[in-house]
Amino acid sequence: MKIALIAHDRKKDNLVQFAIAYQGILMEHSLYATGTTGQRVMEATNLQITRFCSGPLGGDQQIGAMIANNDMDMVIFFRDPLTAQPHEPDVSALIRLCDVYQVPLATNMGTAEILLKGLQEGFVDWRMIQERRN
Ligand code: PGA
Repeated sequence: MKIALIAHDRKKDNLVQFAIAYQGILMEHSLYATGTTGQRVMEATNLQITRFCSGPLGGDQQIGAMIANNDMDMVIFFRDPLTAQPHEPDVSALIRLCDVYQVPLATNMGTAEILLKGLQEGFVDWRMIQERRN
């Protein structure tokens, strides 16, 4: 599975803690991240992550392009709902594409935990269903 990790600045510590806690599951998958998020997670864990541009410089759009190419399976995006983001249109576009392509999206740690535990248990088989449709 290809999993994207993104966190706004005030949520980066949360995502780093999450990645440390779930490193065992995450390391079984191909990981992608926006620039700074990926750097922070790699510094704190042994995870290998393909990093894109920083979010405000187009990283969210690069991950969105993977979704549009049907090439991303899950997005964990810890948004900061209390701070205005200069790249808000990109954030909205990424979330919209997740819905267009039925990509599981977690925007907070509670949902992210459920998604990763579901992934570990093999509950996330929507991809195979979708592939059969195509
Ligand atoms: P960053 O981007 O990981 O480069 O900080 C995340 C974002 O703000 O979308």
